[in-house]
Amino acid sequence: MIAFIGIGANLGDAQANVLDAIARLKALPGATLLGSSSLYRTAPIDSSGDDYVNAVASIDTTLAPQALLEALQEIELAHGRERPHRNAPRTLDLDLLLYGDETIATGTLSVPHPRMHERAFVLAPLLEIAPSVAIPGRGPAAGFVPQVADQFITRIA
Ligand code: ADP
Ligand code: MG
Repeated sequence: MIAFIGIGANLGDAQANVLDAIARLKALPGATLLGSSSLYRTAPIDSSGDDYVNAVASIDTTLAPQALLEALQEIELAHGRERPHRNAPRTLDLDLLLYGDETIATGTLSVPHPRMHERAFVLAPLLEIAPSVAIPGRGPAAGFVPQVADQFITRIA
């Protein structure tokens, strides 16, 4: 299954944390890294602290969605992520954006990620590596770009 992972960090060396997350995805048993976007700098939305560094990676995986989520959470924990409150600054946040064309709604997992189409920091890196990707139930991801045009985002050279 092809899955897309959203990566974000705004604590510590955010850029290094994002690059390490991509390296860990590359090393993840049951997954092959297909691609990763450039790094982007974005202002916090519904969150606090420094600017975020964001990226999106694509993997080909045999892991089931819940197992993949748990693997992502292990990578977050390896970076010492704590969850003092919702939307707190974080050393590393890994979100399962898309899992093939599946729609999943369990107590612990919502796929497609319910807010991905509202976020420039997801759409810009996602479209960089998958320009024609569709969000199940919503349509082409590219169609949502005009609606996030007011969100500050810049590609890190
Ligand atoms: P957010 O990423 O929305 O800022 P968190 O990273 O703290 O919030 O995630 C909180 C919970 O969201 C996780 O414990 C996880 O069970 C749940 N969750 C639901 N859907 C997803 C998804 N698609 N990707 C990652 N986490 C998800
Ligand atoms: Mg998350």
